[in-house]
Amino acid sequence: MIRINSNYDKLQASYLFSTIAKKVAEFQKANPGREIIKLGIGDVTEPLPEACIQAFHSGVDEMTDAGTFRGYGPEQGYAFLREAIAENDYALRDAEIQPDEIFISDGAKCDSGNLQEIFSTDITVAIPDPVYPVYVDSNVMAGRAGRWENGRYQRFVYLESHEENGFVPDLPKEKADLIYLCFPNNPTGSTATKEQLKSWVDYALENKALILFDGAYEAFIRDDTIPHSIYEIEGAREVSIEMKSFSKTAGFTGTRCAFTVVPETCRAFDAAGGSRRVRPLWNRRHTTKFNGVSYPVQKAAAAVYSPAGKQQVKRLIDFYLSNAAIIVKKMEALGYACSGGKNSPYIWIITETDSWEFFDTLLNKAGVVCTPGSGFGKCGEGFIRISAFNSRVNVEKAMERITKAMG
Ligand code: PLP
Repeated sequence: MIRINSNYDKLQASYLFSTIAKKVAEFQKANPGREIIKLGIGDVTEPLPEACIQAFHSGVDEMTDAGTFRGYGPEQGYAFLREAIAENDYALRDAEIQPDEIFISDGAKCDSGNLQEIFSTDITVAIPDPVYPVYVDSNVMAGRAGRWENGRYQRFVYLESHEENGFVPDLPKEKADLIYLCFPNNPTGSTATKEQLKSWVDYALENKALILFDGAYEAFIRDDTIPHSIYEIEGAREVSIEMKSFSKTAGFTGTRCAFTVVPETCRAFDAAGGSRRVRPLWNRRHTTKFNGVSYPVQKAAAAVYSPAGKQQVKRLIDFYLSNAAIIVKKMEALGYACSGGKNSPYIWIITETDSWEFFDTLLNKAGVVCTPGSGFGKCGEGFIRISAFNSRVNVEKAMERITKAMG
């Protein structure tokens, strides 16, 4: 008898986006012709930078000629892209990462979901709250979650983000083995200082733990004191795996290209307590189950690091950050406390009411859709997330409407 993986029965249905869609549909039915502006979306709206488009086209052209055609590439990614990443994302920031410690993939979503697979199922996982849900569900599927009780999985250690800790979780009192951190954070938009990241690296060293650091929004960091990579922290090479993505950096959400860094010195432990290098395990997993990102896409990604590409990416991120500044200014003028939006595309807003109640008010009074914070975890209750990924026209129009309706 073929039996299912019963851990899937422990997954909690995510009602967040389906409930949003249902409420929007009901509103449209009741208010035909009234235009809705969606400020809840985590997807980019602007096209790929010109340098990426040109490189993408030339990659496709190479595929038309038998002399330059490429079939299967290296599963870990082409050397030209890994070298460009090692140089620009790491060496230029005094972080020591070699090209063969970088694994190109088709997304930070897949990598952040897949990485847990190389670790034992009886380890303790520390999960941020609020959280990007992939970290939770991939560990539930693998059987590390335990029972669901009072809105939480019994076997997870929850790393709570509140106003009081500036939305950067404190070190857990419990012992955790695999720790998920994400900065700049989705959904809170918070960033972590070097000292804060150092305390996590020290915790991991002391507790024989490992950090999965999700830096998908790194390109939004504009404050020079904020680290762009966990490898800027001493000791991190031993205890951290880092993921980054071209999705939000350069508009690759539909094009798909990201990477994961597993340093040669990164270690975990076997059942006998012996130290084991993690990189060969991830290399084995990656080369067994993944066959590489397409050549034209990797060429397009490498163009991000060309002089023109760097300028264009900066302009693109500046554009979204200006949207974020408009949103923060208007919401603060209305008396709402905002976090994020400075080194992040997300603005996390204290609603002082139930998240869904505030969502309903914004929708009904202003015709604007946001994301209720409670959809990201218990600690998200009392907040909404507004995203800066939109056209300027929509952002300005939405903020005008909110000001009129709530002012
Ligand atoms: N990590 C975080 C924190 C995200 O918010 C997202 C996308 O929204 C991803 C990863 C996914 O990135 P990718 O498009 O590379 O799969």
